[in-house]
Parts: sequence; C-alpha cells; structure tokens
Amino acid sequence: MAEVIAYVGLGSNLENPVDQVSKGLEALERLPRTRCLARSSLYTSPPMGPPGQPDYVNAVACLATGLSALELLEALMAVERTHGRLRDGTRWGPRTLDLDILLYGDARIDSPQLRVPHPGIPERPFVLYPLAEIAPGDLDLPGLGSLTGLKAGCPRGGLNRLEGGA
Ligand code: ATP
Ligand code: CA
Ligand code: CA
Repeated sequence: MAEVIAYVGLGSNLENPVDQVSKGLEALERLPRTRCLARSSLYTSPPMGPPGQPDYVNAVACLATGLSALELLEALMAVERTHGRLRDGTRWGPRTLDLDILLYGDARIDSPQLRVPHPGIPERPFVLYPLAEIAPGDLDLPGLGSLTGLKAGCPRGGLNRLEGGA
C-alpha cells in the first residue's frame, strides 16, 4: 500500500504529562511501516472535560504510513495501553496518554470506530495551533476547509507553547 500522510494528536494530563507526550512521540516513530515526518512543540492547555482535572500537555505529529486507517487506530490504542491508559467511561476524563487520528490523507471516514477528520478539530485550539506549526496553512481538511480558516475561527484561549519543545 502506498504511504498516506496522517496527523496524530497527542494529549496527557496524568503522571508527568510532558514525559508521557514525549515518550508517545517516540513510540509513533517506532510504529510499523510508519515514518514520523514532523512533530510540533509541546503545548499546555486547560482541560476540556470535567472540571478539577490537571492541565493538559498536547502535541501533534505528522506521519507517513503504510498502515490502513484502522490499523493505525489499533496501533495507537496499543501505545495508549502501554502508557497505562485506562478507560473508565468518563467522557474527556483525565488520562495518561490520548492519541487521536486527526487526518488520514484526504479520507473522510464516519464509522462507529473511527471518524476522520476528527470531528473535534474546528473547536480545539490544542489541535489547530500545533497542527499549524507543522502543516501548510493552505492544508485542506476534508469537509472542514483550510487550516488557516479554521485557526482564524478558534481563539487560542489558555493554550501555551512550552519552551524547550519535545
Ligand atoms: P475525543 O475523540 O472527543 O477527543 P477521547 O479522545 O477522550 O474523545 P477516547 O475515549 O480516547 O475519546 O476514544 C473513544 C473512541 O473514539 C475510541 O474507542 C475510538 O474507536 C473512537 N474514535 C473515533 N474516531 C477516532 C479518531 N479519529 N481517532 C481516535 N479514536 C477515534
Ligand atoms: Ca481526544
Ligand atoms: Ca482518543
């Protein structure tokens, strides 16, 4: 299978989130049939889900992969498990590592298991700003428009770039 350019969003707010996201980025480089082409800086952002959780650390990586979208999802979930990710059913609850497929080439996928482009992208500064660091501004997100346009409609809010990067 030919390589596809995919963007993956990383997030953590438990057990040393900087370390979790840094190690998560390293794990992406070790995925089978996959090369990491670029990684954004690390960012901190206020939690989106239930209040009272620690702030998040986020980043975005650009991959060239020979994995299918579902194979990539499986591989990402396996990495989450090695980082001790537990799912207790709380939506947007605290987590050691979250890996979301943001984009998979120009694919539009809407299945119970996998939605691509990730539907949260337009309202999530912690996705759009790191993505814009490593993707061209005129990148077209299937069904959502250009990255520049999306960023213009989404204020940074409490998003901060961490000095020192990943
Ligand atoms: P959100 O998807 O709104 O960021 P979340 O990351 O907290 O929320 P999870 O509990 O990590 O949600 O995942 C719930 C389910 O979402 C997973 O079991 C997975 O099958 C599904 N899913 C759908 N689309 C995607 C995607 N693009 N990337 C990763 N998982 C996805
Ligand atoms: Ca997520
Ligand atoms: Ca997820």
